[in-house]
Amino acid sequence: MSNVDTVIKDLVIANRILAKEDVVDAYGHVSIRNPDNPKHFFISRSRAPELIERDDIVELDLGGEPVRDEKRALYLERFIHAAIFEKRPDVMAVVHAHAEDILPFGIAKATKLRPVIHSGSFIGAAVPVWDIADKFGDTNVLVTNMAQGRDLAKCLGENNVALMRGHGFASAARSLIEVVRMSVYLPRNARAQMRAKQLGGKIKYLSQGEIDARNRGYSPYSTETWRAWEYWANKASCGHLLSKPEQPPENQHDHKHDHKK
Ligand SMILES: [Zn+2]
Repeated sequence: MSNVDTVIKDLVIANRILAKEDVVDAYGHVSIRNPDNPKHFFISRSRAPELIERDDIVELDLGGEPVRDEKRALYLERFIHAAIFEKRPDVMAVVHAHAEDILPFGIAKATKLRPVIHSGSFIGAAVPVWDIADKFGDTNVLVTNMAQGRDLAKCLGENNVALMRGHGFASAARSLIEVVRMSVYLPRNARAQMRAKQLGGKIKYLSQGEIDARNRGYSPYSTETWRAWEYWANKASCGHLLSKPEQPPENQHDHKHDHKK
């Protein structure tokens, strides 16, 4: 099986996981850069992530246009993905979703979304908020062209996540597993932060040192990361699509410091 076949299968799994974990519903999408051609990426045609199969995956260029003749409808907001891949050569995978728990943090200016739980550390210390109205005035609040996508990508900058005011979020990472994990834990971090705020008093956020220590321990195919991917894929009824990559020797055993329960 070629690399691209595996990538497309992984993208199907990613769609199903994000649906099962309530990050996306009928709307929201995930994409992955073509490993053989960094100027192209894969994403589904316009369809709910829970229902996506291999044949739904299309290949688009960095202008958000299909590279082959395509009669089927595409996602209106595919430009989010195109613009982030264009701006960030380091990014291999992108998620856009409207998860409800993050929405208040894009609307209220008083409290910024920040990592408060260990699994939320990957969202990074700063999560910028992009407001489409700042540059484009009154729109339907969707990202429907490259100019809007590029403005969002500019706001994202070198960060992992940007909130989109009154809309949702965009997240970007070095691998598909990483962007899915980040997008699953982002709403959970938002929930924990919101509830802590309700309890009152000062919020204790993860320190920069703690965020850095979490990042240092991360590897996309480590035993710990794979554990979550395998669990989520089976929970989403697509364990049969899994293809485990060869493991580097240093990752063959559970790291003692992480998730020891
Ligand atoms: Zn959207």
